[in-house]
Amino acid sequence: MVGAGFSGSVVARELAEAGHQVVVFDSRDHVAGNCHTARHETGVMVHTYGPHIFHTQHEHVWRYINRFGEMMPYRHTVKAISRGTMYSLPVNLTTINQFFSRDFDPQQAEKFIAEKADSSITNPVSFEDQGLKFVGRELYEAFFAGYTAKQWGVDPKELPASILARLPVRFNDDDSYFNHPYQAIPKNGYTPIVEAILDHPAIEVRLATRFEPHRDAKDDQTATREKFDHVVWTGPIDAYFGFEYGRLGYRTLDFAPEVTDGDYQGHPVVNYCDVDVPYTRITEHKHFAPWESHERTVVYREYSRLCGETDTPYYPIRLVKEKEQLLNYVSKARDAKAVTFVGRLGTYRYLDMDVTIHEALAAAEKMLECIAAKKPLPSFSVDPMA
Ligand code: FAD
Ligand code: UDP
Repeated sequence: MVGAGFSGSVVARELAEAGHQVVVFDSRDHVAGNCHTARHETGVMVHTYGPHIFHTQHEHVWRYINRFGEMMPYRHTVKAISRGTMYSLPVNLTTINQFFSRDFDPQQAEKFIAEKADSSITNPVSFEDQGLKFVGRELYEAFFAGYTAKQWGVDPKELPASILARLPVRFNDDDSYFNHPYQAIPKNGYTPIVEAILDHPAIEVRLATRFEPHRDAKDDQTATREKFDHVVWTGPIDAYFGFEYGRLGYRTLDFAPEVTDGDYQGHPVVNYCDVDVPYTRITEHKHFAPWESHERTVVYREYSRLCGETDTPYYPIRLVKEKEQLLNYVSKARDAKAVTFVGRLGTYRYLDMDVTIHEALAAAEKMLECIAAKKPLPSFSVDPMA
């Protein structure tokens, strides 16, 4: 198992419970991948690789995560600053009334936004089309155009509509960021949950060990595939093939931490939507654990940029060029022997944690079915091109 994030850990556990021996490698010195959390010296639980809120509609995923740790009820809200004023995000009735200085009821607001929205766009292809069709030019420019240009580093006309389709617009005062019925944060952070998933007698975990699929082990920080019947790869798919078709594009994030007394911004996340503010958002970690109290506070200012060779890959870019490269890697993966690609990096898709767990459970089930039927194990359990 290459990678001790949710993908690798969940597949490892399922295979171990079915009687297989699994060795899990991670090049980092901790488990939980990008969901890793750690206590800061102030006592605040910090989400090391950016804010992670667990939310799902999948009953089985909710049951699964609750098996391994205590989940605390948490309702995520986000504020957004545009041209010096703070609003609620997603756009809701309060945002609309505040932004346009009106006093609409829900029906009036819906009619007003329908008039603002660009009804000539019937089939939105780009992020900009989706924004204009969705809320009209003023709200689109205030909340989405600048933030998105900073987050993705390209003109929103070049991005797919699907990125914006993740956010709702509401004509009531509901300011929940997510619509899912289950929303929570683990009481002690994500890392103990992943440790508990990996805590099985048939699982051995080797941290700070990079797995090199096609090279000889150079030292004890690298491992190779010689001894293993099968590899599950949750690292970047292009890395498995030595970047033969070039590197798939990612956005990476830089976090600038700051520690102060008291409460910095009163909210877990504040987005900065203007293009002339260089960061995209500020996260104040202690607000993810409202059941704890801390005198000091830790905030991360978040900056997005193109991912370089030695940076952490965060968001797959998946524009036309990357999709062409991906197709080459996927065909190669389908021909490769004794390797299954799983997860965010293994399939080069943006996946929330619940979808990651759902797909990892499905991948393990498919692998076990193939083993039982004495068939070759699958290269993928989902289609990465979809
Ligand atoms: P990862 O967590 O990336 O794990 C892959 C692991 O593989 C890494 O630890 C890496 O070190 C290891 N690895 C790679 N190559 C090798 C190698 N050659 N040898 C050894 N080890 C290797 N989801 C939500 O549900 N809610 C949120 O609020 C949320 N917020 C997010 C915020 C940000 C900024 C980002 C980027 C993501 C967010 N996500 C969120 C998504 C979440 O991070 C992913 O769903 C999850 O991390 C995917 O798990 P994974 O195991 O597939 O990948
Ligand atoms: N977005 C935006 N303004 C905001 C928040 C989000 O334009 O204040 C856009 C941005 O392009 C982002 C997308 O909406 O990538 C989806 O938002 P989400 O909160 O899911 O962001 P992500 O998980 O990508 O950080």
